Formats: sequence, C-alpha cells, structure tokens
Amino acid sequence: MARRRTPAPAPAAPADCPCGRSARYAECCGRLHRGEAAASSAEQLMRSRFSAFAVRDEPYLLRSWHPETRPASVDFDPSLRWERLEILGATEGGPFHTEGSVEFRAHYLEGGRAGALHEHSRFVRHGGEWVYLDGDVRA
Ligand SMILES: [Zn+2]
Repeated sequence: MARRRTPAPAPAAPADCPCGRSARYAECCGRLHRGEAAASSAEQLMRSRFSAFAVRDEPYLLRSWHPETRPASVDFDPSLRWERLEILGATEGGPFHTEGSVEFRAHYLEGGRAGALHEHSRFVRHGGEWVYLDGDVRA
C-alpha cells in the first residue's frame, strides 16, 4: 500500500502562551488569533505573531501582515519548533504611534538542536490595526 503524504499536524494549543507572558494561551495571544481582540501595540502584535508561528495559525499570520509585503501563504517548517520569544527592545509602536519596531530573538528547536533568529521587525498601522511590514535578520 502506498504511503500517503500527510502534512505535519499543527501542535496542540498550548496551555501557557508561547509569547513569554505568564498567561494562558487562550486568554493571551489566543484572543487575538480568534479575532476577539486587536493588538494594542506593535510589541503585542509581535508577540501574537510569534505565538501564531508556534501554533501554526496561518490565517492570523496572513491577516496581521501588511498587504504590500504579505506572502501568498506561510510555509511552516515541520522540523522546526518555536520555543521562546525574547524581546530585546522596541521603539514607538504605542497607542499614539503609526509606526513601530521591535527587536527580538526567537528561540527554536530544529530536529532537537537549539537555534535562534535575531530580527528587527517593522510594524505600521493599516486601517487602524497594527500589522507587520518587514524585518531585517541580524547576525
Ligand atoms: Zn501571548
């Protein structure tokens, strides 16, 4: 019998939020992912997008991405597991700003090996809501 290729199942919704806040996922980034709340700052959007990568919520990642830089789809690497987010700094991105940036280190496990992505991301308001514009990967 031929083996059918099936996509890797999305990880089960975690109890603790992957974004690093000491909160339950359902009451933290889960509320944004379900569309029940909007990010109030660029940093909160950044945290919710990290959590969306961790739980592989493609629709949320796409709708929190600026239409000009948004890809057609998000390719989740099945061998990569996002473990922990470390916010290194943020500029603007608050209630009275239209732009903001967040520098972070996103820790992952790839086939059991630990690694980290260091990125400086830019966020803007689009239709009143914070969206991800682009980012520079730092060495
Ligand atoms: Zn969260």
